[in-house]
Amino acid sequence: MGIKFDDQSVDVSGVSDRRGRGGPIAIGGGGVGVVGLLIYVLVSVLGGGSVDPTQLVPQGGPVQGEGPGTGDLASRCNTDGAIQQYDDCFLVKVYNEINEVWTDEFNRAGNTYEEPGLTFFTQGVQTGCGAASSQVGPFYCPPDQGIYIDIGFLEQLQQQFGADGRYAQAYIMAHEAGHHLQTLFGTERKVRAAQQSDPGQANQLSVAMELQADCYAGVWSRLADDRGNVSVGEAELDQAIGAAEAVGDDRIQAKTQGRVDPESWTHGSAEQRRTWFLTGRRSGNVNSCDTFR
Ligand SMILES: [Zn+2]
Repeated sequence: MGIKFDDQSVDVSGVSDRRGRGGPIAIGGGGVGVVGLLIYVLVSVLGGGSVDPTQLVPQGGPVQGEGPGTGDLASRCNTDGAIQQYDDCFLVKVYNEINEVWTDEFNRAGNTYEEPGLTFFTQGVQTGCGAASSQVGPFYCPPDQGIYIDIGFLEQLQQQFGADGRYAQAYIMAHEAGHHLQTLFGTERKVRAAQQSDPGQANQLSVAMELQADCYAGVWSRLADDRGNVSVGEAELDQAIGAAEAVGDDRIQAKTQGRVDPESWTHGSAEQRRTWFLTGRRSGNVNSCDTFR
């Protein structure tokens, strides 16, 4: 059936387009490469040896209004068929539907949802978490509450990890938005504190964070589907599940280093990621996402 949106309008509020601006990159060497193609969170905080931002300068608050360079995006994405044709327009549309669903859910609970920012970049970008390169893959930066995506990653996801299809991209966006929920809920702050006080538990806590973001992605998928915001069929769900599995630590380790070392996992196995996405998808309720048990 494909992916059906309830409407075709694309809203670029909160979006920054910094593609083609290069941008300063100050990233540590070894270990980035393909391993960095995890869906990364806590870029500067966890590091995990793969990212070494030179500074951690919280810049406070989500991105407000339209960011730089979005004029073209707004007009191009609001033409007939643009959402289907262009990756960036599709992603902004998914971002819109994510914000819509979570805004309603927060309101229902008597709370206020703050939208995350969304920045497209190429090569490298300065963030509230320091400088980051495309090699880390899409990520969320808690201090500036921004989601950062190099659209080239989506091609790599497809080519190197075999994660195909538009709904795989929607899952990625929903996962990053899941990290935003963790910031709004205060989970990220608590986990970061726990990791600092007990570094021996840092990886295990990171895995729980990532699996929870997968679960939140599943919850969004269910809610968006039930409400008709983004209707999908079985084939689309398989795309999301395929992507969740493709970025499992065991899959990536097997591919990049030829062996699997669970001690070093930061995101969880393919099976865990699939299971938690489906837990959220089945329940449609964030309370089902207690991955810290
Ligand atoms: Zn993540």
